[in-house]
Amino acid sequence: MNACTRCGECVSACPEGILAIADCGVVLLPEQGECSFCGSCAEVCEEPVFATDLSMSHIFAISNDCLVQAGITCMSCRDACPEEAISMQPRIGGPFVPVLDQSACTGCGACVAPCPANAIHAVKKELPDA
Ligand code: SF4
Ligand code: SF4
Ligand code: SF4
Repeated sequence: MNACTRCGECVSACPEGILAIADCGVVLLPEQGECSFCGSCAEVCEEPVFATDLSMSHIFAISNDCLVQAGITCMSCRDACPEEAISMQPRIGGPFVPVLDQSACTGCGACVAPCPANAIHAVKKELPDA
């Protein structure tokens, strides 16, 4: 259930300007910046929308649109990630390939905007096995 009433308080409170209201409720706009986990959104929200530990329900994944798939060297996402969750894996016959460790990804979105190929997208975080 989505508890968001679309009041917009969190959008105004976010110092990074990365929240917006959509039909489904509040959404994150990683192409506009990264989440710093300051907690301002959760502080102003009167509904049970944000996790108390500020964890996200999504992580990110790199698609085949990545430039290295076309033989072009790029490491922009690796350089942008504050968690060092993206490593560059060597391979024979082509540029290093970015590999995203989803267990280390906080969902901050810092890797999204720097990607020149728009190859990084949010995916739902899988719940750990019971
Ligand atoms: S997440 Fe909370 S503060 Fe943000 S629009 Fe929804 S109800 Fe309002
Ligand atoms: S969304 Fe994940 S992979 Fe991307 S910069 Fe943030 S922690 Fe790193
Ligand atoms: S920034 Fe984008 S194009 Fe560059 S290595 Fe990362 S996913 Fe590939």
